[in-house]
Amino acid sequence: MNPRPLPRESVALMQGYHSPQLEVEVRLNANESPEPPPAEFRAAVAEAVDRVAWHRYPDRSATRLRTRIGELHEVGPEQVFAANGSNEVLQTLLLAYGGAGRTAAVFEPTYALHAHLGRVTGTSVVTGERGPAFALDIDEARRVVQSHRPDVTFLCSPNNPTGAIDDPAKVSEVLGLVRGVGGLLCVDEAYGQFNEASALSLLGDEAPLVVTRTYSKTWAMAGARLGYLVGPEWLVSELSKVVLPYHLDAMTQIAGAVALDYVDSMQQRVQRLVAERERLVAELAMTPVEVWPSGANFVLIRPEEVSGEVVWQKLVDRSVLVRNCASWPRLEGCLRVTVGAPRENDRFLEALREVLT
Ligand SMILES: *Cc1c(COP(=O)(O)O)cnc(C)c1O
Repeated sequence: MNPRPLPRESVALMQGYHSPQLEVEVRLNANESPEPPPAEFRAAVAEAVDRVAWHRYPDRSATRLRTRIGELHEVGPEQVFAANGSNEVLQTLLLAYGGAGRTAAVFEPTYALHAHLGRVTGTSVVTGERGPAFALDIDEARRVVQSHRPDVTFLCSPNNPTGAIDDPAKVSEVLGLVRGVGGLLCVDEAYGQFNEASALSLLGDEAPLVVTRTYSKTWAMAGARLGYLVGPEWLVSELSKVVLPYHLDAMTQIAGAVALDYVDSMQQRVQRLVAERERLVAELAMTPVEVWPSGANFVLIRPEEVSGEVVWQKLVDRSVLVRNCASWPRLEGCLRVTVGAPRENDRFLEALREVLT
């Protein structure tokens, strides 16, 4: 007898999802905000947390938080589902709409968690390809959706890790295709505030569509673990059946609601990051690397003369950590660089120039 019980086979074969958390001076690997939220936010959260009734369970349905998020998007709380990071939102979506005997579709290269959470939940994952420059290819989307009839189809715009923004007309077309096979479309907008267009404009009670957002990036709150989706009321009520009771703790609910008092400062952070991104892209254009246009707070690059793997390690040696994308389909030799504070971006550029010469 094997003294160590085995996990189910699909788990045993899994790689897990790892982004190394190394101790470095310049951390540009996880698309975090380089700036914390404002001091006023932190003070307001501390004050509210001091009033938490620690001996009681938190509000199970997080009504206040969902109401505030709903106001931001001009919908009611019944159209908002919040959880511990948008990853938990995606997992809950797959627990309810994916699972054994069901299928999810992704278009690579894209956010690795979509396929990974598919496998974790026992959902079969089918893969389509993005087109040239990693743009959404509507013929490919039609092929995948009509031949596999996926229960859940994922898009990601701006797309991680390529930075590409999906053409809103194409997203709308994919929604039509998905609706045609009785499926559900999930548009991951983790970087939505960097982009004017949003699939939120396609939402409707009859549209099989959800849009996910996170507090981890533009809200500068990766430490809080909070994300949400906006979708039809009938779908949100299915999700609340499968998520664990009291999944959102009292502090997270408070932090998420208080953050929304500081929309202006969030938007200013976004503008500073966009300015820095443009500076970074202009500087990179003068180095021997291929650079893809980005609509988010990161830039995908491929060094032309030195292997990406070597560049990654030599940057780490100089205490600069970026994301090695070598294991992503079609991204051999690519690195994803988060836009940091000006001084961090300078450190990265300086180290990169050294490594490439
Ligand atoms: C960073 C990111 C998330 C965020 O996940 P959280 O669990 O909310 O931290 C979700 N989707 C994409 C595409 C991301 O890049």
